[in-house]
Amino acid sequence: MNASPEPPLNLLVIEDNPADFRLLVRHLHKEGLAADCTRVASNEELEAALTAASPWTLALADYKIPGMDFVSTLGMIRARCPELPVILLSGTVGEERAVELLHCGVGDFVLKDHLIRLVPAIKRSLRETEDQRARRDAQAALRESEEKYRILADYSPNWEYWLAPDGAYRYVSPACREVSGYAPAEFFADPGLMDSIIHPDDLNAWQMHRQGLLGTHPVPLSFRIHTRDGDERWLEHVCKPVLDEAGRFIGWRGSHRDVTERRRAEQKVDFLTYRDPLTGLPNRSLFHELLTRAIARAERTGTEFALLFLDLDNFKTVNESLGHSQGDQLLIAVGRRLRDALPDGNALARIGGDEFNLILERGRRLPGIDLLAQHLIDALNEPFIIDERHIYIGVSIGIALYPADGQEIETLQSSADAALNQAKQQGRGILRFFSPELTTRAKDRLTLEAELRHAIEGNELLLYYQPQTDLTSGETVGLEALVRWHHPERGMIPPGDFIPLAEESGLVVPLGDWVLHMACRQIKAWLDAGLAPRRTAVNVSAVQLSREHLIESVKHALRETGIPPERLELEITESFVIADREQSFKALAELRALGVRLSIDDFGTGYSSLAYLQHIEIHELKIDISFVRDVTTNLSNASIVKAIIALGHSLGSEVVAEGVETQAQADYLRALHCDLIQGYLVSRPLSVEDMTLYLSRSGATSRDASREDTDLDPSCAARGVLQGS
Ligand code: C2E
Ligand code: MG
Ligand code: MG
Repeated sequence: MNASPEPPLNLLVIEDNPADFRLLVRHLHKEGLAADCTRVASNEELEAALTAASPWTLALADYKIPGMDFVSTLGMIRARCPELPVILLSGTVGEERAVELLHCGVGDFVLKDHLIRLVPAIKRSLRETEDQRARRDAQAALRESEEKYRILADYSPNWEYWLAPDGAYRYVSPACREVSGYAPAEFFADPGLMDSIIHPDDLNAWQMHRQGLLGTHPVPLSFRIHTRDGDERWLEHVCKPVLDEAGRFIGWRGSHRDVTERRRAEQKVDFLTYRDPLTGLPNRSLFHELLTRAIARAERTGTEFALLFLDLDNFKTVNESLGHSQGDQLLIAVGRRLRDALPDGNALARIGGDEFNLILERGRRLPGIDLLAQHLIDALNEPFIIDERHIYIGVSIGIALYPADGQEIETLQSSADAALNQAKQQGRGILRFFSPELTTRAKDRLTLEAELRHAIEGNELLLYYQPQTDLTSGETVGLEALVRWHHPERGMIPPGDFIPLAEESGLVVPLGDWVLHMACRQIKAWLDAGLAPRRTAVNVSAVQLSREHLIESVKHALRETGIPPERLELEITESFVIADREQSFKALAELRALGVRLSIDDFGTGYSSLAYLQHIEIHELKIDISFVRDVTTNLSNASIVKAIIALGHSLGSEVVAEGVETQAQADYLRALHCDLIQGYLVSRPLSVEDMTLYLSRSGATSRDASREDTDLDPSCAARGVLQGS
């Protein structure tokens, strides 16, 4: 297939010598370059040729022509045909001058003696001109398009912008200032400005969106910015890549629309649909939605939750006597007080007049539902002060559990409603579970809780002490303080019956403070009397450890009594790590720094995380009673005990066996190199008076070994322990 022949080039030849011209034409012909050549030899002829209609493709100019100056010739050409490429053709001009001329707009230069270079020079020159023209056309198109865009964008209410392919701003419209408070120039100056004004919660979405823009179908994005004045505004952003006519990527054009008003209106509609306008709490519709979700979640995770119906006891009377506006104020205050009394993340709603509903999902840290409900009742029993008047109002609460009291919304709600009715009938200001057994249990627990609170404030708690004895020397090395509750009606209540409830209700914190101070005072008294063993241990609950308060409490007790810190030991159950890990580790490290001793209680029963043992120097491990009980008969328990002793020693801790009741156990433990024992074999926990006696006799052991009173005589017990060896 033949390509259609190229049209001949139209060459303007400025040459005074006709022979040279003929030579040139022949050469071009010989080289196969199709060209129509026109010769001019004076300024007038040149002028005429340049103004003629024929479009010249290229000019070939001799350097020296009589009556013509080469530089003016060049000027004439540039003036008429600015883009016409010019090749200097000369036999005389020197190299230096030729280079100078190249800088003045001559495309190339060829010596007449080297005509062989001419055709390649013509071709190169034409190619370059073509490229330049294309580039210039593209730029012009771009400028034109930018110009058109700018005219539109300058008047747009939206904040329009244009980015170069490298992401730099080429244009930002004036509306930018109105929307963001920042001037276009500030965006040019700081490429990070946009990211820095975007709401932190939306930044991630914005960055993803920016990456998505590289794709072919970018999706609009709504996000918030902070304006220069600190206002929050909603913007909707669209942006797309821009291509030139040849399909080349030349940047992005984007637009931010201020949609704040629309968003606010939507939120308002949302609020009116789903919120109680008075208290701002979720309303009936939203609560229904929340309850549906709670059921789905519980079903999925196999967990339980409680639905509480709350009804204010005296609201009607109060509302009628005070008037509606004060009634409204009261409801707002009730909503706020309820919300403040609840742990985070539980759903509270106002359903109607004086009815509130609540979902309690049982988190790890949530106190029992009964305790929490009672807490709400107590909170609303405190008077409200409205317009300087004290107003008393109570609340009754009905509680249904999912799934036990209903697996569908309707059944669960009617169970809670039935429970509430009972509470109302049975005296108001009380809580009732749908299930009577739970109500009975709750009543017992609540009574106990109230009594315990009273016991801590009153004089019903006591500390008993139990000795820890060295298995080799028989010496009383330490004591453990154990709390006792002397209930006025029920007699002595063991800690196992009230410590768990105290932990659940948070009462263990004041209780723990009391124990700590009492124990320190007792240590001080025994120190003064010359009776104190090397250390006395106090039990600390994981709940105490997870609150910052403990450190202060220990410091205070040490300061108040002036006892050396190493006289005090804190027993922490192994399970403490399950609670608030970080806070617990921090607390342990701080306690350690105070100089008090640390002991891990009930070792072997808890969460066996050994990591903390490496991080914090522990003075003592206490082998749990459950391993000690049958250590002599149960092989696997015996090997656990062996392993704990080895572990303790490798960490440099002393090992104490708890609950040692028999001589055989003591002998066995000694054979395993256990350091200390604590248990009925040596002594039961003793009251302060009995322990004082015990200690004074223990000190007197070496002087007087003939006592009969074995129960309280440490010498006999300790001798027994030693005799086994
Ligand atoms: P624990 O700290 O492991 O205390 C040892 C328990 O074993 C004590 O029970 C003690 O009386 C009992 N025990 C001692 N020797 C023997 C024995 O030879 N045989 C048998 N069967 N039992 C023995 P207690 O006093 O009833 O205390 C039970 C738990 O209550 C304690 O276990 C401790 O976890 C907790 N507790 C006691 N006092 C306090 C306290 O002041 N604060 C805190 N937070 N918890 C305490
Ligand atoms: Mg203990
Ligand atoms: Mg223990």
